[in-house]
Parts: sequence; C-alpha cells; structure tokens
Amino acid sequence: MAAVKSKDTKPELFIRKALHKRGLRYGLHNKSLPGKPDMVFRKYGAVLFVNGCFWHLHDCPRFSWPKTREAFWKKKITSNRDRDIRNLQDLTDLNWRVGIVWECALKGRLKRPPNDIIDLVEIWLRSEESELEIGGLSP
Ligand SMILES: [Zn+2]
Repeated sequence: MAAVKSKDTKPELFIRKALHKRGLRYGLHNKSLPGKPDMVFRKYGAVLFVNGCFWHLHDCPRFSWPKTREAFWKKKITSNRDRDIRNLQDLTDLNWRVGIVWECALKGRLKRPPNDIIDLVEIWLRSEESELEIGGLSP
C-alpha cells in the first residue's frame, strides 16, 4: 500500500492546516509508531489517521470491489484492513488514543461541513475518549 497511498493527500492537508490554526500541534507520519499515523499529537497522547475508503475497506458508499482482477484486489484490500486492525490494537496497547477520519467525511456527496470535522477532532483531542471515528453523513 505504501506504493499507492500518497502521503500528503488534499483532505489531509486541509485537516492539518485547520488544526494548526486552532493551535493544535502535531508531528507527521511518525515511522516509529504502528501504522505510521498521519498526525501525532504527543501532548494529547493521540494519533490521527486520514484513511481512503477504498484502500482501507470502509463500509460506506465510496467503497466497492473492482470488477476486474477480483482475486488480486480482494487479497490486497483485506490484507490492508487486517493490518489496520493490528496497528490499531498495537497503538492502543502502547496507550495511544486513535482517531480515524474517513475520506467520505471530507469528499463526495456525503461529506460533512469541514468545520464540523475539525470541531469533532478538537473536542476529541481535548477529551479522554480513547477512540474517534468520523465517516460521511448517513445516506
Ligand atoms: Zn468511507
């Protein structure tokens, strides 16, 4: 997946800028942590991933199985998903709080108002909740 997932996707850049504006500081793409989280908020003991719905097998309208090379994609995408699950467990074991913002929250017909997403992330960072998951609006 490393070969195909670009590091600085547009939605991720939006989130980074907006959080920075609110005074929330973070490190980027920390390679020493499981899953190389997109953002690491040490002060808050939290990491944040911005996940593409296709590559990470999100149960949402933006995900659908490709019609060609079905076996290849099935293997690839489910192994991505399995790795995500392991990474999440490892991060939790290391006492990190883990947040995921899905691509469908940021683009497409079910996207949320951008400021709502930033509000949710900020509230979560300042809370003691262990997990955060933000997907698109319900269809
Ligand atoms: Zn999604």
